[in-house]
Amino acid sequence: MSRLDEIREKALKSLQEYAVLMLNGHFDFGNGYHGRVYLHPHQLFRYPSRIWRLAQDLIDILPASILDNTEVVAGPVTGGALLAHTVAGLLDSRREITSPDTMFALFNVDASCGHALSRFYQEQIRGRNVLIVDDVRNTGQTFARCAALVRAGGGTVIATAEIYDRVEAMVDIGVPNFALAEYKAPENYPEKTCPLCQSGVPVMTF
Ligand SMILES: [Zn+2]
Repeated sequence: MSRLDEIREKALKSLQEYAVLMLNGHFDFGNGYHGRVYLHPHQLFRYPSRIWRLAQDLIDILPASILDNTEVVAGPVTGGALLAHTVAGLLDSRREITSPDTMFALFNVDASCGHALSRFYQEQIRGRNVLIVDDVRNTGQTFARCAALVRAGGGTVIATAEIYDRVEAMVDIGVPNFALAEYKAPENYPEKTCPLCQSGVPVMTF
């Protein structure tokens, strides 16, 4: 097994130990569906050391060309922004002390359009290479919106990266994407025909 595969496998195990990713359960998602897999990203951020460790691992799987060219690490609030802040700081701990400090930017939640970039952060990214990070990639829509904001602000998106990919992305934003861990959940069942209910497995709700 390659070193990268080892890092990825260890990360997937850590996510289960931290109860971020719960496999083989019986969960009520509150939308009429039940399923075996539940994702609880807030568990990542309860203990800052967890995100520090996983951010180190995420940096370890990124190609040198991305690491060398990143000038700004940006992420959407809340999880993505916390991760981006950590990644930006850790990148500098691996660089020559004479190289310019890596910057951080965040995308706010905006009620009308999903995410927004304040004027302050727009100025920060203008003319710079931006790595966009998030804790979880679902459909890829969040990355797509954030990438559009960076481009509209005059920055260049060089890659996207996340701790966990649900392998359900439906949007291609034209740059490489890197996932530390990935797992595709099996399909969910409508509550009424849920085989787990039928076999009497106790259901968990969050
Ligand atoms: Zn059920």
